[in-house]
Amino acid sequence: MNLDTNLKELNRVGATTASNLKKLGLETISDLLFYFPYRYENFGDKILIKELQANTNAHLVVQINLLQNRRGRSRKINLTEALVSDESGDLKVIWFNQPFIAKNLKVGDEISLAGKVTNYHGQLILNSPTYEKISERELIHTAGLIPIYSLSADTTQKQLRFLIKQALPTAPEIIDWLPNNIKNDLGLLNLPLALERIHFPKTSDDILHAKQRLAFSELFLRQLRAQMIKKELKTEVAPALQYFNEETNKLVKSLPFTLTPDQKKAAWEIIQDLEKATPMSRLLEGDVGSGKTLVAVLALFNVALNGQISALMAPTEILAVQHYLSLTKLLKDFPIKISLLTRSNKQANFSEKPKLDELLSANIIIGTQALIQDKIDLSNIALIIVDEQHRFGVKQRGHLSKQAKTAPHFLSLSATPIPRSLALAIYGNLNISLLKNKPLNRQPIITKIVAENKRTTAYDFVKKEIKNGRQAFVVCPLIDPSDKSGYKSVKEEYERLNQEIFPDIKIGLLHGKLKANDKAKIMEDFANNKISILVSTSVIEVGIDVPNATIMIIEGAQRFGLAQLHQFRGRVGRDEFQSYCLLFTTDNSSGPSQKTQDRLEALVKYNDGFKLAEEDLKLRGAGEIYGTIQSGYPELKIASLFDYDLIKKAATAAEKIISLDPDLDKHPLIKAQLGDFEKDYHLE
Ligand code: ADP
Ligand code: MG
Repeated sequence: MNLDTNLKELNRVGATTASNLKKLGLETISDLLFYFPYRYENFGDKILIKELQANTNAHLVVQINLLQNRRGRSRKINLTEALVSDESGDLKVIWFNQPFIAKNLKVGDEISLAGKVTNYHGQLILNSPTYEKISERELIHTAGLIPIYSLSADTTQKQLRFLIKQALPTAPEIIDWLPNNIKNDLGLLNLPLALERIHFPKTSDDILHAKQRLAFSELFLRQLRAQMIKKELKTEVAPALQYFNEETNKLVKSLPFTLTPDQKKAAWEIIQDLEKATPMSRLLEGDVGSGKTLVAVLALFNVALNGQISALMAPTEILAVQHYLSLTKLLKDFPIKISLLTRSNKQANFSEKPKLDELLSANIIIGTQALIQDKIDLSNIALIIVDEQHRFGVKQRGHLSKQAKTAPHFLSLSATPIPRSLALAIYGNLNISLLKNKPLNRQPIITKIVAENKRTTAYDFVKKEIKNGRQAFVVCPLIDPSDKSGYKSVKEEYERLNQEIFPDIKIGLLHGKLKANDKAKIMEDFANNKISILVSTSVIEVGIDVPNATIMIIEGAQRFGLAQLHQFRGRVGRDEFQSYCLLFTTDNSSGPSQKTQDRLEALVKYNDGFKLAEEDLKLRGAGEIYGTIQSGYPELKIASLFDYDLIKKAATAAEKIISLDPDLDKHPLIKAQLGDFEKDYHLE
């Protein structure tokens, strides 16, 4: 067995298992080693039965005295019951719907158990513990810190742990590409050791050190890449564009409000970049509702007046449509042609198919990122703006520079709250404009967790707001009903609200599977207040701007992460009206867990995206690894955006190497690693 051995060749891996593993991206031994747990369960040291306490995790070594399967009172349930003992006493163990356990184990077996101790009618029992037989090999499922992996339904934790344990002896074959002097200076583990410890740590310090090393790798490579791109950009030429002062003033005067000082400053920074013949690479950062679009429009407007083409890329078709509608309205008095590229490739008047040439005769092309990159030769584009993609342009940059004669200017709009110093450290090639303060007419949104028995009161409140001319969103987790999860689907909820709750109110239904035209029609009707309530899936998560909407109802709120919930909430409170965000959680029979409760309470407490991001990381705790991915910052897999210290160290180390060896020719291992890194992170 070596690093490249295919998993199919392992004992106990048949064709089905192999294909299940492949779904997780696992094909070779090396893939297994780099598949990290996202958290750990701590079962601690072995204790005795007499030491058990209710509501704690416990690890025991016991003997089986009795073992039987029986039907539960509800006939659908199969119960496996065991009576076990150690030198200190007896204990009852129950497993639900795992009848095979009675075959795997037998009376007399010595087994190790790990699980939650529960109080069952005054008696302490172990409920569905993990078990493993005591044998020659080390315990990997039931003792001490147990790794938990993110899996699909057809692979089990036990299976994966077993395989990774088998793969670990090959870890020393992995070549550690990080130079020794860096490791020594910073006290970082060797890569093979870090891998061993991230999977099977003995202590929480082991986890910490392993994480530290792996996070450093990630930050260091990211930083090297940023520095190399920065150097390359210096040699590229972009169209130098003129600023149209008078026309810009005319446009600004036509707005129903005045620009905030932050908007003015950001627009000015962007315009100055555009005047230069080197490509702009800028991030415009501002919390939801801070007014990023308008700043972007001022840039697009000036490029158009230069007779050049720009592209505005949105993450969803719905947002692209909205941008099209609002830009068309904003720029109606100017001779600027705007076109919308949608999947069905129909123009926004939704009748005839546009000719691609005609599309390209537009000054501003709006569409989803995938579509624009697919359909349009970007070598004629002077400015690319990417809205809410959390990618900060590195990918587009790499994608373009090969085909384009001149490089486009690049602007990324994002609500992701990354501190400036940090963004500079991670994306060294970016300049940043910050919209720190929102327009003054805003009031903080009132957020409430609503108990199920207050639902009617909440609906009465919605009726009142709508009577006053306002509008509401209702977000549900699913499109179609599912009897398994118990979560609400938009289709059912739409029917229910339409027929039972608000029969006199006009309600719209929106989800990703609708045709582009239908989506556009509904969005337009909602924007023009022809629809009062919009029942939607998460497709409205980012960007949607209907300032007259004041209520955001979120069903199954426990299903969503904090960053996502904050984005949903950001759909209201976009004008002077007091706005509300109402969170419902009880459509899941088990009710919200403590963790969910903490998360939702953080949302109630903080209105600011920045504070929430920090709170989110705190709530996740040190035991969790993939913190950034799950909280909506897919830029980093292991490292934390808020680990200032490590980020600084990585930046310094990378700068040192690049200054001595700009093309990494003397560091072939790092260079090769950088290539793999770009593939893994889809940056190439
Ligand atoms: P985001 O930063 O989330 O993309 P938008 O650009 O969509 O926010 O702006 C949110 C809302 O605020 C829009 O309805 C927009 O018209 C409005 N807006 C933008 N700038 C101002 C301003 N200076 N004063 C008042 N409202 C503004
Ligand atoms: Mg926006």
